[in-house]
Parts: sequence; C-alpha cells; structure tokens
Amino acid sequence: MSSGKDRDKVHCGLIEKLPEWAPEGGGKGFACRVQDGVAARHDGAAAPSAGPLNTSSVKHRPPSRFRRPVLSAQEMAKQVLEGNRMVLARAITLVESNAPRHADKAQDLIRRLLPHTGQAIRIGITGVPGVGKSTFIEALGCYLTGKGHRVAVLAVDPSSSISGGSILGDKTRMEKLSQDANCFIRPSPSGGSLGGVARKTRETMLVCEAAGFDVILIETVGVGQSEVTVRSMVDFFLLLMLSGAGDELQGIKKGIMEIANALVINKADGDNKLPAERARTEYERALHYLQPATRGWTTHAYTCSSLTGDGINKIWETIKTFEHITRESGVFQSFRKKQTVKWVHDMINEHLTSLFFKHPEVTAQLPDIETAVSEGSMPAVTAVRKLLQIFHGDKGPSGN
Ligand code: GDP
Repeated sequence: MSSGKDRDKVHCGLIEKLPEWAPEGGGKGFACRVQDGVAARHDGAAAPSAGPLNTSSVKHRPPSRFRRPVLSAQEMAKQVLEGNRMVLARAITLVESNAPRHADKAQDLIRRLLPHTGQAIRIGITGVPGVGKSTFIEALGCYLTGKGHRVAVLAVDPSSSISGGSILGDKTRMEKLSQDANCFIRPSPSGGSLGGVARKTRETMLVCEAAGFDVILIETVGVGQSEVTVRSMVDFFLLLMLSGAGDELQGIKKGIMEIANALVINKADGDNKLPAERARTEYERALHYLQPATRGWTTHAYTCSSLTGDGINKIWETIKTFEHITRESGVFQSFRKKQTVKWVHDMINEHLTSLFFKHPEVTAQLPDIETAVSEGSMPAVTAVRKLLQIFHGDKGPSGN
C-alpha cells in the first residue's frame, strides 16, 4: 500500500497518509497543523473555512481520495442503521462533541435514530477499582456474543475530568472482547461535569441501539455519584463485590446496595471459592433487610469467576428473568418512561447552570460575593438572591 515518501497508517479501518518528514523546530508546528486538519473533519462536519491561520493546514491535507466524505445527519443515520461501524464511531464522536457548531447536527441525528432505539437491555455494572469490572465485562460480553447477541460496552468515568486520570483506565484489558466483531467498546467521554458525561453516554447508548446492539453494558466506578447517574439510565444494575473485604474497605455504602438488582461476588475461584460463598450468604442476609431496588423483584447475591467464566451464565439468566418479570408487570416500561422524564430535567438543570455561570455580569460579581459569604459578611441566602437578580437583569425571575 505504501507509495513514494508517504507512509500508510491504518487506524480503525481508516487510512491516513503520513508524510515521513518533519519540519525544522522539532516538528511541533507540523503536529499542530496535522491535528487541525483531522479535527475539522473528524465527525463528518464541514471543515471550518480556511482563514489566514489555517492556510498552512490546507497545504498539508491528505489528497482528496483519502479524505472521508462529509456526511449529512440523514446519511449518517442511514449508515448507522445499516450497521456501518466506522460511521457509528463518527456518529458517537459527533454526539460527544462539545463544539456548539456540532450541536444541531447531533440532535438531528438523534431525532432520526430515536424510532429505532429502545429494544436493547441496558445493564449497569459498578464496583470499586480492582473488583474485576473489566474482566467481568469481557467474560459476560464474550459469553453473549457467543450466543449471537451484539454487545456495546460504554463507560461513565468523570474522574478523568476531575483528577486528570481515569479510574476505569484503558479498555485494552478487554482484549478478546475488543476483537469481537459483534462487540463495540467505547471508553468514557472525556471532559466536563458528570452531567455532561452522562448526557453523552445516554445519547451514545441510543446510537448503539439504533446500530443493532441488543445488549448495552455501562461500566462505572462505585465510589462516587457516577453509579447513581448510571442507575438512572439502565434497566438492570449489577454491583460487583469481593469476599474477604469489609464493606468499608470496599467503599460500599448501604445506599449503593439498595439501588442494585443483583450483588455479584467476583473472583469465586481457587482458594477464594469458599470465602466467596460465605460472603454471598452474608450479603443475602443483609439484603433481606433492605428495600428492593425494583418493585416485584427480589435482589439476590451470586458468586462468579470472571477469570474461569463460572457463574456467568447464571447471571445472564437472572438478567433475562428480571426482564421477563418486569416487562410482564409493566414495571420495566414505566421505569424507562420515568428515566426519560428525569433525563429532560437533568438536561434543563445542566443547561440553566451553565447559562448562569457563563453570564458575564454573574461572572464579574461572583468572586466578591463568594468572598463576602466565606468571610461571614453576607448571608448565603442573600448572596443567592443577589446573584439571581443579577442573572435576571433585575427584571425578576419571570423576566418582566
Ligand atoms: P477493575 O478495576 O474493576 O476493572 O478490575 P480488573 O478487571 O482490571 O481486575 C483486577 C484484577 O483482578 C486483575 O488482575 C484481574 O485479572 C483480577 N480478576 C478479575 N476477575 C477475577 C476473577 O474472577 N478471579 C480472579 N482470580 N482474578 C480476577
């Protein structure tokens, strides 16, 4: 495939032409220019018009035969529905984009895909780091693709925007699953608040459903707020645990057990088989005193080994039974309806909060008001009232 001075780089099925030379000065400017060119067309959106700063990047663009065509939302939706993986990845990049110029197109795409969503079972998986989430997802995912299912794995990990590092880490650990043609793995969208990450994950889930994935696994870390957020977007919520570690050690609060539809003691293999079984009995007893997460469903504790695959089939059977029972009773459908309404509320909250903190006058006065509150010279309630007055331009909340 290689020709002349150019070197072919195959990345996710795409071919980019990379010149083998670099400009003087360490190639820094060169890398920036290449990045500009790629970013502009990354999700099929039109490249920005070439202003004076962009003229150099235009010069270095790959020949047109290697450029991906810009797809309209309509064409993108059509190809997602046909199961085109490359367009699926581009569609997700579009819905994940924070760029205002992508927002309308992303919403147009979602609107077109929406009638084709909702048929998948959505499963949330949580647990502390090291409990075996990736290994479990690999085992369950491979088991399911072996049964003819199509599995999408998504992640909600706002830690990357808070601490700069990701708790869930990279997904290369799911080595076998990531090579499976019937599986699609998408790491956590980066940047922004938990609300922002959640919005993107919800929309990504819809895009995956439209592309024909019938099992959606959403992984998150059970140590903060993200598990509550994931709970609000899935049908079945599974909490992975370890034997031999106290609840405090596992960072597990009673609250998280109350939102789970199944407790799974992982690593029930080798010498750990018996302790795992003992832990299962103990958790079973504890569950007895908790409010069940879903009406008409009793949460139980199970054991499994993600390493050997023992018990994975039992967990899938449990999820199927849950789906059957709750669909029959109507709880499944009504829960989804509530989730959608809550999603609307969440987005309104997110939007209003963002409008508030971006308001120029609020931004200008906020530091002084915060100082006054922290020094005790202004009551918090007064501060809020004052800031809201500033936000409403002294017109009152109704804007009149
Ligand atoms: P995560 O941080 O929750 O995603 O955990 P990982 O999936 O990365 O697993 C952490 C470690 O536990 C790895 O070394 C795994 O090989 C190991 N592990 C995961 N599941 C099992 C299991 O079922 N049995 C045993 N023995 N080890 C496991």
